[in-house]
Amino acid sequence: MPFRLIFPGVYEFANGIVNNWLIEDDDGWTLIDTGYPNKQQTILDALTAFGKKPRDIKRILVTHRHPDHAGGLAALKQTTGAPAWMHPLDAGVVRGQVPVKRSTPSPGVLPWVLYHVMVNLVPGDVPPAEIENEIADGQVLPFGGGLRVIHTPGHSAGHCAFLLERDGNLLFAVDACANVMGLTPSFVYDDHAQGRESLRKLARINFDAVCFGHGKVLSGAHAKKFNDKWR
Ligand SMILES: [Zn+2]
Ligand SMILES: [Zn+2]
Repeated sequence: MPFRLIFPGVYEFANGIVNNWLIEDDDGWTLIDTGYPNKQQTILDALTAFGKKPRDIKRILVTHRHPDHAGGLAALKQTTGAPAWMHPLDAGVVRGQVPVKRSTPSPGVLPWVLYHVMVNLVPGDVPPAEIENEIADGQVLPFGGGLRVIHTPGHSAGHCAFLLERDGNLLFAVDACANVMGLTPSFVYDDHAQGRESLRKLARINFDAVCFGHGKVLSGAHAKKFNDKWR
């Protein structure tokens, strides 16, 4: 099964190096994030294997502007017909209206190496796509089980985390930090101090599980590591 059930009604899908999610709604599915520009077929193949059609995706929620999250949006919108939802501070880049701001690496050798590999291999911009709906901090979205938007700037200006309060609480921390080689800061931020402040904001929330753009879900007692680390 290419999608892994990580919480009631929530499936995580490793699309190359980045995780995408599908949430079951009454009217179909909400897709969170879209992978790199050339990876949309991976999502469509996985959907087919899951017995679903592209039109079963009713909306696409984009967590932030980076190409590993927003890159497949234009192609997937065309295939699914689904409208997009995103924070306005990153929507301008995806719409092609605002130039890309280059992030800078976190301290340490590994982030520095990863940063220079990525800068050389991956363009910072994404194929332009329309964003029909803009989201705001504190808003409870009318889908995805009532996801609550938590604006967490720093990694990018419009980066958002989400809290799903259904059969317990699941936090989508996305790229506010990473859980690839243990729980660490993400390897790049637009604004490192702001990113740290956003992690403190997330650490004040009670949740039963937390998932990441990069790395494995933490649940139960392991999820508390997040609160302890970033408070
Ligand atoms: Zn990112
Ligand atoms: Zn990412």
